[in-house]
Amino acid sequence: MNPHGRERLLLSAPAPIANVLVDVVVERARQQQLFDAGKLPFRVCDRATTNSTRLAVAAEEFGEIAHAINEGTVTVQERAHLREEVIQLAAVCVAWAEALNPKQEGPRA
Ligand SMILES: [Mg+2]
Repeated sequence: MNPHGRERLLLSAPAPIANVLVDVVVERARQQQLFDAGKLPFRVCDRATTNSTRLAVAAEEFGEIAHAINEGTVTVQERAHLREEVIQLAAVCVAWAEALNPKQEGPRA
């Protein structure tokens, strides 16, 4: 699919999908801010980060999803927390995919 077709597809996504994608982008920005503030030692999106380390980060987020489920998913707050954890895992996976993007040249600035 050409770049314009991909952009058009993204812009025409149904609202439930668009809402999730926006939240993932917001979470990616939050992760970047944490790195910029020195609160994270590395970025998943960096070419220098190994796949083993990326997997460990994703596994940690996956575990936090399991923890949220074990804590409960009945109340609105519990479901919101579970959703936050799912979005965080999705954002980590996006960063990982960024690192594997064949169009990317070297580490991000
Ligand atoms: Mg988490």
